[in-house]
Amino acid sequence: MAEILAVGEAMERALALLAGGDVVAIPTETVYGLAGDATNGVGVARIFEAKGRPRFNPLIAHVADLAMAERIARFDPLSEKLARAFWPGPLTLVLPQRPGNGIHPLVTAGLDTIALRMPRGFGGELIARLGHPLAAPSANSSGKISATTAEAVAADLGSRIKLVVDGGATPVGLESTIVKVEAGTLRLLRPGGVAAEEIEAAVGMKLLRGAVAGIEAPGMLASHYAPGAAMRLNAEKVEAGEALLAFGGRRAEGWQAVVALKNLSVSGDLREAAANLFAYMQDLDRSGAKTIAVEPIPFDGLGEAINDRLSRAAAPRDIIPSET
Ligand code: AMP
Ligand code: MG
Repeated sequence: MAEILAVGEAMERALALLAGGDVVAIPTETVYGLAGDATNGVGVARIFEAKGRPRFNPLIAHVADLAMAERIARFDPLSEKLARAFWPGPLTLVLPQRPGNGIHPLVTAGLDTIALRMPRGFGGELIARLGHPLAAPSANSSGKISATTAEAVAADLGSRIKLVVDGGATPVGLESTIVKVEAGTLRLLRPGGVAAEEIEAAVGMKLLRGAVAGIEAPGMLASHYAPGAAMRLNAEKVEAGEALLAFGGRRAEGWQAVVALKNLSVSGDLREAAANLFAYMQDLDRSGAKTIAVEPIPFDGLGEAINDRLSRAAAPRDIIPSET
């Protein structure tokens, strides 16, 4: 069972777990977050695993200060104004990533934008001490409502994580508001802890609302993950000229003739495979092969999300697989 430590006594233990690639449930002003080091692929994979999420959707990266945020993403004047007005606080900004920012691609599900927020209190201090941003979706198992007390987190995730940091009931009790700047306009992607009217008053501008395909739920869109090459799943055999995305110790027939080969996890560890997935798909795409054959990957644990992502990448490019 997870240990529950009060904010005043939890810092060193939380730092040690995060530095070791593990996850920690922490209080924020919105809801409890399940945090992992956003630069550590195994740490981020553990978040999905502990939540039992059936797919890799992009997570919010939490920062300690504006300087850390500006090393990760490019701020236009409007975003900077919002950050200065509402941070630390329950406002998340979706911004273009800076190349080479160290953020693991599993955090953003391979997107070139990133959702950033600066939390108040323990989370902010923890990030500053760690020196790395934290990816942190709500600390509840997939499909359940967000936890607003340490007891609720422990009751739900206690058998799957080592530490819950207890900061009492979260003051806002709602997720953060998510806003994206698009060519000088602001779009509300998710209502939350900061009222839209407050944001409009701060910038003297109306928020755009309503669905724009591919923005509200980027994790649902096939095209965001589709490599240039075609993808062929559950390959037991590979043809000459194909690239091979392998898994485990047994190779598909004909593997000696592939133009490029990456193994998601030689030992068959699904957590390691999840951490490698986006980068290896990109590597193989760059090999110039017309087709990437993918060896069968089991569906247990993180395998479900890995297979979900692969099947989206393999889908015809103009079809958006329906949400299930
Ligand atoms: P959660 O971390 O579970 O509270 O939710 C994260 C939310 O942020 C999801 O609704 C995502 O769709 C959204 N999100 C994260 N990254 C991006 C991004 N790069 N672009 C648009 N939305 C994003
Ligand atoms: Mg949630």
